[in-house]
Amino acid sequence: MTLLQGIAASSGIAIAKAYRLVEPDLSFTKTTIEDIDAEKAKFDAAIAQSIQELKEIQKVAKTELGADEAAIFDAHVLVLNDPELINPIKEKISSDQVNAEYALKETTDMFIAMFEGMDNEYMQERAADIRDVTKRVLSHLLGVKVVNPSEISEEVIIIAEDLTPSDTAQLNRKYVKAFATDIGGRTSHSAIMARSLEIPAIVGTQEATEEIQDNDMLIVDGLTGKLHINPTAELIAEYEKELEKYEAQKAEWAKLVDEKSITADGEQVELAANIGTPEDLEGVMNNGGEAVGLYRTEFLYMGRNQLPTEDEQFDAYKKVLEGMDGKPVVVRTLDIGGDKELPYLELPTEMNPFLGFRAIRLCLEETDIFRTQLRALLRASTYGNLKIMFPMIATLDEFRKAKAMLEEEKEKLIAEGEKVSDEIEVGIMVEIPSTAVQADQFAKEVDFFSIGTNDLIQYTMAADRMNERVSYLYQPYNPAILRLVKMVIDASHREGKWTGMCGEMAGDEIAIPLLLGLGLDEFSMSATSILQARAQIRGLKKSDMKELAEKALQMGTAEEVIQAVKEKVNL
Ligand code: PEP
Ligand code: MG
Repeated sequence: MTLLQGIAASSGIAIAKAYRLVEPDLSFTKTTIEDIDAEKAKFDAAIAQSIQELKEIQKVAKTELGADEAAIFDAHVLVLNDPELINPIKEKISSDQVNAEYALKETTDMFIAMFEGMDNEYMQERAADIRDVTKRVLSHLLGVKVVNPSEISEEVIIIAEDLTPSDTAQLNRKYVKAFATDIGGRTSHSAIMARSLEIPAIVGTQEATEEIQDNDMLIVDGLTGKLHINPTAELIAEYEKELEKYEAQKAEWAKLVDEKSITADGEQVELAANIGTPEDLEGVMNNGGEAVGLYRTEFLYMGRNQLPTEDEQFDAYKKVLEGMDGKPVVVRTLDIGGDKELPYLELPTEMNPFLGFRAIRLCLEETDIFRTQLRALLRASTYGNLKIMFPMIATLDEFRKAKAMLEEEKEKLIAEGEKVSDEIEVGIMVEIPSTAVQADQFAKEVDFFSIGTNDLIQYTMAADRMNERVSYLYQPYNPAILRLVKMVIDASHREGKWTGMCGEMAGDEIAIPLLLGLGLDEFSMSATSILQARAQIRGLKKSDMKELAEKALQMGTAEEVIQAVKEKVNL
């Protein structure tokens, strides 16, 4: 039995077998072949095994993920049955007397380069199919396993070095009970996605992929960050009891689904949800969300080969606005960059992507992309209560430019005879210290602020949110952060505006009493945290929390603040 300690990224407990989602080693060397027929037979066998395997995956994918997702495997089978690809490989084995691995790779690389060079989306997709299929056949030739999350058909815990947001989106909640990764922090996007999928997760274990083999029995404790490998029967029994307790606690919170988020002394706040796709609305409803405080639109742009069209975006925004039935929906414009990449945009690799060409910086330069999104949003605005928010604003000038483009697109649409709401609030994320410090100036021009503490903390503390070695510097309760938060809230209130928070801090039980005391108006969090937050808020008095926050602002360290909160509110 081994124990790894990671960072608790999504709460809950899971007990299941390990499934390693790790890139296989497909390296080989070129060799000269004596027995050509035997080499060709080996190649034929690898093709047959690959086809068989694809048909099985296709069957599972069809029932678990739907026909659209499964169609890709049909395309792969077609590639493997295509004589125009297969024959040249066999000819190469004979004519050059080379091993099948080498002939396969040389030939498919040539086709991939040819198709990728064509200015035709269909051909570029074929290149991607050939690349996937080559990996599969190569794995059979080399006798190593290639992994694919869509082939999972029993309950597992995923073990990976890291999971990209699009990997995470593909996980099937029915079978994937939890995940644990080597790298990442509490605010890396895979952790955020785990919370919206409602599966327990631990990130930053450093050595999960090294220590864990396929089918090892695991316990993921997403409440404490403990990952138990091959635990004893006694420990499993203990955790089964814990799991029951946790479920009972959740059932208690569930009773508050239609209640107000109101403090014991009668002050009301708004508890909103962070979402990534229109499908997340179900979770918002089930958890009593009063608004969408952050719709991360970048997920619309991910897991595909080209930009979403204006109409595709319009449909998604309309769905969310209608789904929320007149309740506020804060849509954030494209925030790509950092740990969220778009391979088809072909942006140059940067030394410091979190400090680089991302979010509003990219949108103000790639104006076609930005204007398409703004048009889709404006067209959708009549279907609900839309608020638009720009990410990563560092200067007033950036805000003014973005707002001017929004106004221009609005005028154009009206001239084209489209209806656009007159009541769209336009705000910004405060996630760069310069903006927090200058909040008084911003407050005169924006309609609202939403504090993005995931980034605000990483930029204030100069600590990469993805790097587990500096994760001790992710300190939401550090008085320096609390002072910045206070500056923003006070500045907005002086101008009669409101401030929300959509970073992970907004749903944190130690931060909530402090944020209440500082006067935060809207708390936006993973939908799964809302009911617990509501239960907590209903037990607190705002006047007491004000006193607590004032004391915390004068403290020296985050630890002192944690101690003071725990004493005051019984945590
Ligand atoms: C934030 O930075 O706090 C935030 C909410 O945005 P994201 O996590 O998507 O960067
Ligand atoms: Mg951010």
